[in-house]
Amino acid sequence: MPSGKICGLTVKDVRFPTSLEQHGSDAMHTDPDYSAAYVIIETDSGMRGFGLTFTVGRGTEIVVCAVEALRPLVLGKSLDEITADFRSFYRLLTSDGQMRWVGPEKGVIHLATAAVLNAVWDLWARAEGKPVWKLLVDMEPEKLVSCIDFRYISDALTEEEALDILHKGQEGKQQREEDMLREGYPAYTTSCAWLGYTDQQLTQLCSKALADGWTAFKVKVGAELDDDIRRCRLIRQMIGPEKFLMIDANQRWDVGEAVAWVTHLSEFQPLWVEEPTSPDDILGHAHISKALAPLGIGVASGEQCHNRVMFKQFLQASALQFVQIDSCRVGSVNENLAILIMASKFNVPVCPHAGGVGLCELVQHLILFDYICVSTSLDKRMCEYVDHLHEHFKNPTLIRNAHYMPPVVPGFSSEMVESSVDKHTYPHGEVWRSMNQL
Ligand SMILES: [Mg+2]
Repeated sequence: MPSGKICGLTVKDVRFPTSLEQHGSDAMHTDPDYSAAYVIIETDSGMRGFGLTFTVGRGTEIVVCAVEALRPLVLGKSLDEITADFRSFYRLLTSDGQMRWVGPEKGVIHLATAAVLNAVWDLWARAEGKPVWKLLVDMEPEKLVSCIDFRYISDALTEEEALDILHKGQEGKQQREEDMLREGYPAYTTSCAWLGYTDQQLTQLCSKALADGWTAFKVKVGAELDDDIRRCRLIRQMIGPEKFLMIDANQRWDVGEAVAWVTHLSEFQPLWVEEPTSPDDILGHAHISKALAPLGIGVASGEQCHNRVMFKQFLQASALQFVQIDSCRVGSVNENLAILIMASKFNVPVCPHAGGVGLCELVQHLILFDYICVSTSLDKRMCEYVDHLHEHFKNPTLIRNAHYMPPVVPGFSSEMVESSVDKHTYPHGEVWRSMNQL
């Protein structure tokens, strides 16, 4: 389908007042209002693409401003022109001679890049009449590789090695695609044990999740050790010894403190500790990984990992045992392709970060592709799931028996319901106007 030239790019500050009920609360983000900088690109043929990046409330206006700064780089380009040499377009956005000073490829400007590129991928998939995962699965390895910027990672992964991994992933992909369409991709839940929830809420939510077939559960930790011990004991007792328990500290500790704290929680046999310390501290993560290995506990991180260069170093330093890609933190599908292929080369499983608003909707496409065409394995692999805010999306995730069922509608599942966007636009949407009047 001819998609035309991009003639419009709008961005909205959309916020949901999740802090009112402590949804999403953790040791560092105690009152998040899950939000999105929501991008709509329009072409002169009338097609539209929708993309977003995730934020937790205040500051979304800065991301909106950064998206506006990128707008001139996008307007006037056609989809064909972009996708014919996607690597160059990626680099145009990330290496603008003046704007790269406010990055490069990190922080607010990179979140904005993610939102814009997610909208471009949505537009591409719609133009091809496929969901993004299927667009990727059907793409030739050479074309996939042409979307990746190998600058700064070629010491760990060359273009030839990436091609080799992708060519190997073509074998048996038909079968794996059928498996996914039938069974879905395994998921775990974080919905039961936000830090601000009471023990009673924990118990109720966990028993409901067990009844719904969930087999892996994540608990927020890191504020008070006694509380963590009590909460982990409660969940472990409810789920039994066989099911998976993971703990997430959201960057709360210093390195030594992380090792000591997690050692106290080791009796509950967590599969991983997530974000034990600063997301930038590669050697710190390596130290924690080494110290916790004898206890059988891995280290997971990625939701606030800036870019492919950081992931490269985490992998080179054996600092992570689980790579947690995020669909809205790094440079969209392009950069996540690089990270998925590097993880495969280093033989580290990818267990995506999701939740927030829209993160489940988007990242499911990437992990389906990972299984079908890159890792080709489900061993120690699962994708995070959080059960809220899906009703604001036109094509929300479909979970069946604790598995993500592959989306069938063309695009990136990123289009929000228009009335939801209107109501939640900050600060003039109905929801915020009425709260500010209280
Ligand atoms: Mg986390």
